[in-house]
Amino acid sequence: MKTSFKVIKPDTNSSARTGIFSTTRGEFETPVFMPIGTYGAVKSLSPKDLVTTGTSIILGNTYHLLIRPGLDVIRNAGGLHKFISWKRPILTDSGGFQIFSLAQLRNINDDGVIFKSVLDGKEYSMTPERSMGIQLELGSDIIMAFDECPAGDAPEKAVRKAVERTTKWASQCVKYLGEQEISNRLRSTFFPIVQGGIYPELRQRSVKELTEFIQTGVAVGGLAVGEEKPAMFETLSLMDELLPRDKARYLMGVGKPDDIVKAVARGMDMFDCVIPTRNARNGQLFTWKGKINIQNERYKTDNSTLDESCPCYCCQTFSRSYLRHLFKLNEILGLRMATLHNVTFYQSLMSTIRSEISKGSFKEWSRDFISNQEIISND
Ligand SMILES: [Zn+2]
Repeated sequence: MKTSFKVIKPDTNSSARTGIFSTTRGEFETPVFMPIGTYGAVKSLSPKDLVTTGTSIILGNTYHLLIRPGLDVIRNAGGLHKFISWKRPILTDSGGFQIFSLAQLRNINDDGVIFKSVLDGKEYSMTPERSMGIQLELGSDIIMAFDECPAGDAPEKAVRKAVERTTKWASQCVKYLGEQEISNRLRSTFFPIVQGGIYPELRQRSVKELTEFIQTGVAVGGLAVGEEKPAMFETLSLMDELLPRDKARYLMGVGKPDDIVKAVARGMDMFDCVIPTRNARNGQLFTWKGKINIQNERYKTDNSTLDESCPCYCCQTFSRSYLRHLFKLNEILGLRMATLHNVTFYQSLMSTIRSEISKGSFKEWSRDFISNQEIISND
């Protein structure tokens, strides 16, 4: 079986659509949310937990895995899936975004990047070919292009340079993958990443130059990196017009529930974000009635369930009062239950989005959902 993507139901009132993405490690329905397993674990959750949340694909961070445990260890285990005991698909990023944002003493030129690990000062070089080689060895199902992602407030000149480099590097990535026997054996797929910031002309150019490299899907990068929200959605509407409709579209690093709903309406199919897991660890929990901060005094004696309509073990078992108690004492169980709940909430949100699109009622539903979130998310 080859990796493929098929649109199942386009919405008549927006650009939203449902689809099926097939990989050799199974299918997933879109729109989909991919929890982040930075070091090969979605913090505090086991693969079994993840399955109960409805998660069908996770994201692994190439940069982090390269630093720890290192490629040798994962190679020795027989690839990332075996190492972490996750049988479903994995998308790996290229390492580029973390190198640009986390690593020290970096030197970027047209060939790639040289950086030092923040852990031990060890020097690494990352090139398009090396990023592809690492992702192949990890055994990734969806391999991301090595791109340059400038900050949201970068001047046009810097964004233009990043577009040029991203095209050059995408071409090198595809050439390298084509030459590898392992790439054909694993039947993984490659996603190029459109850059161009909030500049329409650069976005157009980036799409035009990358189109020949699109196989089953394409990513929209360079958004949610500090630009203004209206500019992000304008850019997404433009992306919706420019990108091929029969390919999966992955909006990188977005986001909050209402942002995901708005992006789905603009034809985006795949999402990842640290928000559900990171916020869980700070006690910020998502419910269908808005966000709550479980550490708040008002939950001290609140014996109600966190979210009545949530099927997760936490909501089926514990009260808000007990969850607050766990957080106040930094009990590991609190972090674990909060993460389990938030990931389940995100997956329930995606499942609701898919069913509303299927029923033809996505537009009305999304309007209500967004206005509800705006009113009650100020806890
Ligand atoms: Zn729950």
